[in-house]
Amino acid sequence: MNPPTPFSFPVRTSSSLSLQIPQLTPSRSVQKFNKPEVTLQGQTDAVCSQCHNVTSKDAMVECAKCHNQGHPSCMDLPDELVDKVKSYQWQCFACKGCMVCGKQTDEPLILLCDQCDRGCHTYCATPKLDALPSGLWACSICKGGN
Ligand SMILES: [Zn+2]
Ligand SMILES: [Zn+2]
Ligand SMILES: [Zn+2]
Ligand SMILES: [Zn+2]
Repeated sequence: MNPPTPFSFPVRTSSSLSLQIPQLTPSRSVQKFNKPEVTLQGQTDAVCSQCHNVTSKDAMVECAKCHNQGHPSCMDLPDELVDKVKSYQWQCFACKGCMVCGKQTDEPLILLCDQCDRGCHTYCATPKLDALPSGLWACSICKGGN
C-alpha cells in the first residue's frame, strides 16, 4: 500500500543554485589614472599635465612645487604672463599659496597678481585689503619693486 514514489526528494532548481554564485564585479578603478606612457624625445619635449599632449618644453610652464608642466592655456594662465612666470618659482593653481605667508589656507581670499600670477591673501597684501578687489590687482613685487 502506498509505495513511496521514486524521486520524491526535493530537487534544487538550477535557478536557486545560481543565486549562490557570488556576482563578480571586476573593479576597473585601477584604470582611472591612465597616464599615457610617453617616450620623451630628447630633453626638449614634455607632457602637459592637463591635456597630456607632448609639446616642446619651452612652450609650457612648470610648477616649482609639484613640477607639473602644462600649456599656459591649460594652466589657466594668460599668454602674456608666461615670460614672467618662467622668471621665478611659479606655482600651479593646485599648489599656489600666498607669497607673503606661504600658506594655502583661505584659498577664496588669495588674490592672483594680474602681472605675475603670484598669489597673496587679501589680509597679507600691502596695503591690506578688506575684500577682493574688483579690478586688476598687482602684487607688491610688480607694483613697486622696492
Ligand atoms: Zn595642455
Ligand atoms: Zn603644482
Ligand atoms: Zn598670506
Ligand atoms: Zn605680481
